[in-house]
Amino acid sequence: MSETRLAVADVSVEFTGLRALDHVSLSVETGEVVGLIGPNGSGKTTLVNAISGQVKLATGTITAAGVTLSGLSPRAIALHGVSRSFQIVRLFNAMTVLENVEAAALAKGASRAVARERAEALLDEFGLAPKADELGDSLSYGDKRRVEIARALAAEPKFLLLDEPAAGMNDAETETLLHTLAALPKKRGLGLLIIDHDMGLIMRLCHRLHVLASGRTIAEGSAAHVRAHPAVIEAYLGK
Ligand code: ADP
Repeated sequence: MSETRLAVADVSVEFTGLRALDHVSLSVETGEVVGLIGPNGSGKTTLVNAISGQVKLATGTITAAGVTLSGLSPRAIALHGVSRSFQIVRLFNAMTVLENVEAAALAKGASRAVARERAEALLDEFGLAPKADELGDSLSYGDKRRVEIARALAAEPKFLLLDEPAAGMNDAETETLLHTLAALPKKRGLGLLIIDHDMGLIMRLCHRLHVLASGRTIAEGSAAHVRAHPAVIEAYLGK
């Protein structure tokens, strides 16, 4: 079993009357960015939820660096080095930007001094230092998203799952985010799994793509391979 891999093997997820994921396998190595794409309702968020322990598996297993995650609580999974952001940002609105990021480091067991230092470095990295003392509630949408990613990183994950990190951002914010995200895998030695509808962002950021349609994998590989794949063209351009 690889010590550097997040491995989703043969995973299915069922909701009442619906198989949202049907025997999906996917892997992310530390140091690489994998894009998870597919039409609305194809199971992308469900896959991220399955990895982070928010939904139960009907079949399959998920491991990170050789440790079995499937069956563990979301908190235990986070402690094993898998962090995520949500499609709908979840911040502590009554806490400052700095406190929000610091809290995530404290939750992972860092001392107060280390948590403060780590949070300040992350605010710098994400261009949030000038907003350190602002309340979560008062931030623009784009800033909230960046705080959420900084917070996920404060736990020093080996794998980071991002669900539409650029949603609601303007072009300039998206461009800045792209550069910050692109630097993460090498800088922090982490693997990134990213869902986004912005194909420009996905194509430029990701080393590999994994395409879902109706809960099944229909293509995977390089952007060029995936873009030319007949099943992908059909899934996107209609029935
Ligand atoms: P995507 O992220 O690709 O848009 P989702 O993973 O959100 O797709 O959804 C996949 C399918 O599972 C959709 O048909 C959706 O309606 C359904 N689904 C997602 N979450 C739930 C849930 N908690 N209960 C019931 N059905 C769900």
